[in-house]
Amino acid sequence: MTLHNLALARGTVDRIARRRTDQEWIDAAWKDPRTRVLVVYQGHALLRDDELVFVAPEEAPAGTRFLLGEDSGGVVYFGVSAPLGAPGPFGDGVRAASLREVGALLPDRDAGLLTHAVALANWHDAHVCCPLDGTPTVPDAAGHSTRCPKDGSEHFPRTDPAVIMLVTDPEDRCLLARNVAWPTRRVSILAGFVEPGESAEQAVIREVAEETGITVTNVCYVGSQPWPMPRSLMLGFRAEAPAGQAITVDREELAEAHWWSRAGLLAALEARELALPPPVSIARHIIEAWYGAPLPSTWVGSR
Ligand SMILES: [Zn+2]
Repeated sequence: MTLHNLALARGTVDRIARRRTDQEWIDAAWKDPRTRVLVVYQGHALLRDDELVFVAPEEAPAGTRFLLGEDSGGVVYFGVSAPLGAPGPFGDGVRAASLREVGALLPDRDAGLLTHAVALANWHDAHVCCPLDGTPTVPDAAGHSTRCPKDGSEHFPRTDPAVIMLVTDPEDRCLLARNVAWPTRRVSILAGFVEPGESAEQAVIREVAEETGITVTNVCYVGSQPWPMPRSLMLGFRAEAPAGQAITVDREELAEAHWWSRAGLLAALEARELALPPPVSIARHIIEAWYGAPLPSTWVGSR
């Protein structure tokens, strides 16, 4: 099983990493009236009809700037991390929305640009000082790294790997769980961060055992997507639980965990007894890939 068309793993714009240190080229691109600037702030951007609203460089607010890339028509895209301002001047139907809300609605180009921009903006917002001596850092490589002006050390964006896994039993039922912080009906597959010095496969085995007491085998990678809220990379897996094991829920993490057959899951969703994660999440895609078709249900609440 390989996942395709993950909402936040799309994009049509070339990241042109080779241009990030070419200041002459960057300055010329910033003066080009065709250049488009995407303003992002705390994970949000302005949208019109489910497409991103861009501004020309001269209209862009002051803020941390980063080069996002160039499309096949030669149009260059930058991001700027700065307050969005009121949508009013952009005309009717313009609204601010988060990547989480609109990631699955945007066309491929815009989904890729917003995911890239939110990831970089979140990193710049949270990493403003040199970790070695505390000196405020300055952006470098067109916003794709920072440098300490005192000791010259270079710092790169953080991405935290996390595993998310669909576990099946010998009857091909899948394990769905509810986090203690979630509303009553919401369930998803298990997930957790990869620890230092650990492989992704080891993390899958450890997390499933910690949260449910189940020992899994045949851990198989199925695909990944960035989840820059604030800085995760979700690595999707399938794993199998050999027969004869009881679920022992870790009450610190989970309120409940149960095996679901395809027919049982569909019936519970149609009766609105359960709600699955939204289509923007890799979890939803992994669950539907196991089920074999799209499933009804919307995520309860905004988280
Ligand atoms: Zn330093």
